[in-house]
Amino acid sequence: MSQTVTPDSDPVQENDDVMVEIRDLKTYYQGTGLFDRNPVKAVDGVSFDIHRGETLGLVGESGCGKTTLGRTLLQLETATAGEIRFNGTDVTTLSGDDLYEWRRNAQMVFQDPDSSLNDRMTIGEIIREPLDVHEWKTPRERKQHVRELLDAVGLQREHYFRYPHQFSGGQRQRIGIARTLALEPEFIVLDEPVSALDVSVQAEIINLLEDLQEEFDLTYLFIAHDLSVVRHICDRVAVMYLGHIMEIGPTEELFTDPANPYTHALLSAIPEPNPTSDKERIVLHGTPPNPRYPPSGCPFSTRCPARIRPDGFETLDDEIWTGIRILRELLRERRRAERSIRERIRGRLGYETRFGNMDETYQELFGELDVPAEVEDILQSVIEHASRHDEQCAIDELNDAFGSVCDGFVDSVEDETHKPELYTVSESGRKSYCHRHDETYREPDTVFEDRSNS
Ligand code: SF4
Repeated sequence: MSQTVTPDSDPVQENDDVMVEIRDLKTYYQGTGLFDRNPVKAVDGVSFDIHRGETLGLVGESGCGKTTLGRTLLQLETATAGEIRFNGTDVTTLSGDDLYEWRRNAQMVFQDPDSSLNDRMTIGEIIREPLDVHEWKTPRERKQHVRELLDAVGLQREHYFRYPHQFSGGQRQRIGIARTLALEPEFIVLDEPVSALDVSVQAEIINLLEDLQEEFDLTYLFIAHDLSVVRHICDRVAVMYLGHIMEIGPTEELFTDPANPYTHALLSAIPEPNPTSDKERIVLHGTPPNPRYPPSGCPFSTRCPARIRPDGFETLDDEIWTGIRILRELLRERRRAERSIRERIRGRLGYETRFGNMDETYQELFGELDVPAEVEDILQSVIEHASRHDEQCAIDELNDAFGSVCDGFVDSVEDETHKPELYTVSESGRKSYCHRHDETYREPDTVFEDRSNS
């Protein structure tokens, strides 16, 4: 049985060799709209550790919050809440000289090296700039340090007097890495450091990063969407979705035996080198929700193939269950869009609106399915409410009948704060954020595959 880690306890294991401790970290961007002041919840309460000397991969779809998380760790974005303890000091409380000094310890390599390379400066000046700013030792020692850094990243000392445009993409990334290393940081956030490079050059830069880690005792947070690169370079991996860490643990274990439904889906999308392989790809419906309007309950609930069904509907046909999930999302979208006065007027005047016809929607979702009478009655009532543009009533009725613990429903009562907990799912301490690890809801592993194409 999996060990439960309750929200009140420390959700990450004690480890003496921890360099960065992140606790319930949130980064929200406040809305500025006249009618809509909901914040964008880019990072929404994450807790994990980064161990000294390791490479922790951070993966997830575009927009899941991984770059914001990396930037928040370096205080390039302001945390809304939570703690980031770097060697025991909460850096979210630093300011002025203390923050300036701390920044020497933690640096970032960007996806696009050109963003940190000024075309009017020589390579020597670019790498030396942070040393000049921090008045590091003497000017003579700075120059010598830059030459050593050029050696370390595989460039020539005579490159000191050349300009960025004289170098290839891979060489420019080497220059960016040398500049990052100038102040001798302990911790580096690598934000998609090879994704803009040719495949052959990617391998060279990855090898260089591994060599530098060993030489300078570096700790990396490696942000990437290329899972094969992550599998190659990372000791552990954290999987992120809609501002949450869904699973975190040792790389090989997570890749060969994923515990979280989202990790299953993400890994199933990796292209299979063997064309005769019978590995099935898990198709996720729709796109990730808008982080300004995250779903109640589990962040993955609007797309999860393993979403838990309420009592009485455990054996409901998969396609009907999927249709109900899509209908719920559609109603949520309509409810938000209802604020448009123009659309209301068009509807009242009998013109077509972008909301479409609800009867057609019903036909599209359920028309060809054998819907049980009891379910059909509920759905017809929901459609009637929606046709009258009473989306809230339609959603309430749908939730009363089909609300799941994954949507934040407990005994048919909605509790938006009811989220999954982090469960320890292996002896290595791997964690997964999903109700499915609770004994009450546990199903055989096949649940993910069986429902993947529903
Ligand atoms: S809590 Fe529910 S919706 Fe979230 S990942 Fe687990 S099964 Fe899927």
